[in-house]
Amino acid sequence: MLADGVRWFDDWFAIENIAPGVHAIGEPRFHQINWNYLIEGQHTAQLFDTGPGVRDISEVVRSLTKLPLITMSSHLHFDHTGNLHHFQNIALADLPVLRACMRDGLLHASDDLFRGFLEGMVWKPVKISQWWPIGMRIDLGGRQLEVLHTPGHSPDSISLFDREANILFAADFIYPGPLYAQVPGANLADYLATTDALLPQINGQTKIFCAHGAPDDKGKHRAPMMGGQDISDLQRTLTEIKDSGKTPKETTVNARMTLLANKAAYASWEVS
Ligand SMILES: [Zn+2]
Repeated sequence: MLADGVRWFDDWFAIENIAPGVHAIGEPRFHQINWNYLIEGQHTAQLFDTGPGVRDISEVVRSLTKLPLITMSSHLHFDHTGNLHHFQNIALADLPVLRACMRDGLLHASDDLFRGFLEGMVWKPVKISQWWPIGMRIDLGGRQLEVLHTPGHSPDSISLFDREANILFAADFIYPGPLYAQVPGANLADYLATTDALLPQINGQTKIFCAHGAPDDKGKHRAPMMGGQDISDLQRTLTEIKDSGKTPKETTVNARMTLLANKAAYASWEVS
């Protein structure tokens, strides 16, 4: 079930070392095939996304690093936040839509941001230790991660960019398979604006790691990686749809991606 170079941690989590100090932690048996990322610097490690919480990811993380840990979710959808409550030091992007979820000192995700009711999952309130402004560079020691706001899939979506290693952790903005812009909060004007913002910052060598994988033609799993061409293809597709004035439910982007969209996502063209 796993591709060469990917190993099982137990019978649920898979681990792939994708770059020096960067571990992808996959959940290939979960129907959404989530991939989470543990990024180490010299003095701090950062976990980006925690999976759906079907199993506790914290044991996997602790087996991979002894460094002090900061945990962050790319957005609040249930399949990225299911294990947040297992961690102490949680950071969030300082966005009004996330600040609005604070009540009595704890983060309570709204149904639209969490979506856990779809799979019977219940939000567990967490304390937020740090609010990181968009554009901030987090210093892990010998490695900096820049916080980018990358809305489109959801209003609270962020990506992390290690410019020196030329690795973009793009979460649910782009991944192999059907891109979800048919969920509440998805917005095609934002999706297109994010492609416009990202393309000048990346190049042909940028490795873009994503939060959802797909098995290869032999049914094997590894951490999902896309490239700049995929973001260009998405930009072109969004522009073509916008110019056509049509509102298809599903559009082919390229051989690896389709785009799913609904009426609300299309309505964003009119107000942009
Ligand atoms: Zn999502």
